[in-house]
Amino acid sequence: MCGVFGAYSARDFVAEDVYLGLSALQHRGQESAGVAWIDENRRVNVVKGMGLVHEALSQSVLANTPVTRAIGHVRYSTSGGSMMQNAQPICANYAQGPVAIAHNGNLTNFLHLRETLESRGAIFQSTSDTEVILHLLAHQSRRRPLDALLRALSEVRGAFSLVVLLEDGLVAARDPWGFRPLALGRRGDNYYVSSESCAFNLLGASFVRDIEAGEVLLINERGLTSYSLPDSSKMAENSKRRWFCSFEYVYFARPDSVIEGISVYRARQEMGRLLAKSVSTESSPSGIGVPSVDFVASLPDSGTTAALGYSQESGIPFEAAVVRNRYVGRTFIQPTQKVRELGVRIKLSPSPELFAGRKAVLVDDSIVRGTTAGLVVSMIRECNASEVHLRISSPPVRYPCFYGIDTPSNGDLAAAKNTLEDIARTVGADSLSYLSREDMMKAIGLPPDSLCTACFDGQYLDAPDVDGERCRCSCEKIFE
Ligand code: SF4
Repeated sequence: MCGVFGAYSARDFVAEDVYLGLSALQHRGQESAGVAWIDENRRVNVVKGMGLVHEALSQSVLANTPVTRAIGHVRYSTSGGSMMQNAQPICANYAQGPVAIAHNGNLTNFLHLRETLESRGAIFQSTSDTEVILHLLAHQSRRRPLDALLRALSEVRGAFSLVVLLEDGLVAARDPWGFRPLALGRRGDNYYVSSESCAFNLLGASFVRDIEAGEVLLINERGLTSYSLPDSSKMAENSKRRWFCSFEYVYFARPDSVIEGISVYRARQEMGRLLAKSVSTESSPSGIGVPSVDFVASLPDSGTTAALGYSQESGIPFEAAVVRNRYVGRTFIQPTQKVRELGVRIKLSPSPELFAGRKAVLVDDSIVRGTTAGLVVSMIRECNASEVHLRISSPPVRYPCFYGIDTPSNGDLAAAKNTLEDIARTVGADSLSYLSREDMMKAIGLPPDSLCTACFDGQYLDAPDVDGERCRCSCEKIFE
């Protein structure tokens, strides 16, 4: 998962706006950050570094950078390693001029394209899949840059939400399926493109609309010009089908964002409500039964909105009984198991005063590896809770994601090969149940044929090339 942000103005300097936009998208990536612009000498410039936005970039330097269009990126690695050379934006000066690209998503035919390009003499500087877009564009050196970009994007498959800087202007592009979000905002004559609408609030900009799936939008002194990605046979067959990522609503997006007209907050709250309804009217899928408890708690922050919905629906009071240290990163994004495990203890702290001798329902948005849930339940046990019932506001994650979310290979997914009883036992919960896929889709409220649910049900679009057991899309996942 990554965040991208672009800004265009006829007269204002916007590099600092990009810095602020990236700060609002920090939850989408914490490994590196970068900003790129084109100077008056037609050269592309980039500043980037490892770490959080304020560690990687200098706000004061960007505030004094006299540019009226710029793009930026925050990254965590789903393709290629966590290293400086893979930090974005990726930039080049090629035969037709300067270009800079910032990408959110994963290209499922990356290795095939890379091998083809290398056989034609291309030399890659990074292991990131984004670089193939740059090479595909540079290979169209007789076309004007925007046409070359359209052509390049017709060759890639999988997920991409991009902001691109060309001499022609700022370009926003989204793959024909719309996996990853991308939104257009405006403040006065300034335009902004962001992975999520929450970044517009910080800048005092208003949300205009989503970039459409399959749309390429050029923003320049002539205004806004919308293009469609050239049809491929697959797109034509499925022209109405969309694959907006349901996990954005479950976990990744900020609750104050609106994606495809749906408030992430409202979707999560409804997931919690439906979770409470399903466990109060049916026996839980684990067969352990309905808990009668003293209070509802959440794993903050991503489980909190669903926990509030659960509390509102069930009438059981909500207590902020697990406290989050706000100054450490999200465990899901941490790159190694050791850091992940340490990170949970540093980051989450259950309150002994609230848990001791009491029964609680603990709501979380999802169980991926089970590491976080297991450690938190054991910390709650250390507080002498009498019962801990775990409720998950999404279905079991059983399959890896090839479209830009860092869910691991099947073998590392708690629900891939274990029964719910096994998972409950492993994490130490008295009972465990999940929201059904149908209720998740109902809570989001988009038409069922517009959502990707592949990590829950294995129904992939454009399934990546698999070489033996290893995925060939460069995400390095094992596909079993
Ligand atoms: S597989 Fe899951 S995480 Fe990946 S795009 Fe689909 S719904 Fe989102």
